[in-house]
Order: sequence, then structure tokens, then C-alpha cells
Amino acid sequence: MAAVAIASQKNKFINKHFGSCPRVLCRGQAVLPVGRSDIACQDGVYLYCPKCGDIYVPKSYRTACTLALPAVVV
Ligand SMILES: [Zn+2]
Repeated sequence: MAAVAIASQKNKFINKHFGSCPRVLCRGQAVLPVGRSDIACQDGVYLYCPKCGDIYVPKSYRTACTLALPAVVV
């Protein structure tokens, strides 16, 4: 992934562009988009909370898919 793309994702993460963790204990921790495939939207995009370590299914798949490009591959 290009450095520019990583910087862009970092700024979006800081600004909670991808949303925040639904858990009360995480106190609105920003989540990161993650995918299990290099090909965007092929295997779904999920939201990862670095605080509790859980992965959530986005409320709107299409929205998350668009927001997540390029997704962090785990
Ligand atoms: Zn969390």
C-alpha cells in the first residue's frame, strides 16, 4: 500500500470516518476497516476495534465497502 494511502487511512481513522465501536467500555473507540481478501469487497469488509480486538459487521455493507478502499488486509 502506498504511503499516501496509509496516511489517508490514518486520518480517516483518527476522524472516526469508519465509525466507532458499539461497546460502551470502548468509549467510542474509532474502528478500522479490515478485509480478508486483497480484492476489495470480494470477501466482505469488516470493522475492527483495536481496543477490544473484536471485528464487527458494518451496518451498511455497501457503505463500508466504499469507505474501506483500500482495506487493511489481515
Ligand atoms: Zn471495542
